[in-house]
Amino acid sequence: MRAFKPHLRGLAPYPYASLEAPVKLDQNESPFDLPPPLKEEALRRMARLPWNRYPEIHAEGLRKRLSALLGWPEEGVVLAPGSNLLILALALAAEEVLDLSPSFPHYAHAARAAGTPYRAVPLLEGFGLPLEALLEVFTGGVFFLPNPHAPTGTLFPEEALKALAERAEEVGGLLVVDEAYREFSGTDFRALLGASPHVAFLRTFSKAFSLGGIRAGYLLAHPEVAQAVREVLPPFVLPAHTGAVLEVVLENPGYAEEVAAYVRAERERVYRRLLEHPTWRPYPSHTNFLLVRTPDAEEAFRHLLRQGVLVRRQDRYPMLQGCFRVTVGLREEMEAFLRAAFEVAYA
Ligand SMILES: *Cc1c(COP(=O)(O)O)cnc(C)c1O
Repeated sequence: MRAFKPHLRGLAPYPYASLEAPVKLDQNESPFDLPPPLKEEALRRMARLPWNRYPEIHAEGLRKRLSALLGWPEEGVVLAPGSNLLILALALAAEEVLDLSPSFPHYAHAARAAGTPYRAVPLLEGFGLPLEALLEVFTGGVFFLPNPHAPTGTLFPEEALKALAERAEEVGGLLVVDEAYREFSGTDFRALLGASPHVAFLRTFSKAFSLGGIRAGYLLAHPEVAQAVREVLPPFVLPAHTGAVLEVVLENPGYAEEVAAYVRAERERVYRRLLEHPTWRPYPSHTNFLLVRTPDAEEAFRHLLRQGVLVRRQDRYPMLQGCFRVTVGLREEMEAFLRAAFEVAYA
């Protein structure tokens, strides 16, 4: 076979295996669907669209709305069906991809698929940001920094991000702060970092906005950076039906704050309960999931699955031996998880 580029041989698939379970806490999804009145309104708008017509070339109307809502210039907004696609576009465009280890696996996967040179810097003990090492190796290219961080749930401090933004400016690189979990940490670093053309922000509708199945995310960047990313993406990339849902959601964004408030409270409750576990140890989290260290991740995973609770193993990542990740779901789902967790303790 000589059709494809040799670097794609041996590219590992994205690390996700879909399994069925009554309590599904493995994908950091919102436990709530879109509120029914909004869903109905989105369906009405979809029905009114001419399905034979292409949507706007770069979602101009929605970018205008987002721009007004966020106070960000519309030329600096890129909308796509999922921020994962924006990560791929950035990795395709990048001279080099800089990453943390461990981190959100799609950065490494996108860089490898794109054939872009890739480097990763290990987190410090206790999941701290390795600032000194990063300042040294960040000599250009695109640095993907999830904040709050996945898969640890850590929130990196402002001063560190500021130093990295300055470094990006110095070397002409781009710091991409992936804020997929920002509604659960209540943080917004735009004011701090947004003045620099060397910083961009990735956001998604998949988490607090409860639209994982709809596929939508956006980049906030300097207009020139945004322009370059739009040029890498295919035209008409945001489907009309996704656009119809986003229209309704941007007119009624309040529900996402309620989702986030529920998740924050439930996360803290489950965290405190897990602190009483004799052998499992939860890490503090600023996201909609908890990272839990156990003596044996495979055993924990299998035990939970036998009790109908699906979580995500993380023990194949560096520094995460024995770890799994559990999404904050509905109250009764978390009770099922805790019941199963404490059965392990006394087995
Ligand atoms: C969930 C998540 C995303 C969202 O990706 P979409 O393609 O928008 O669903 C992006 N970055 C991180 C770190 C995530 O955890």
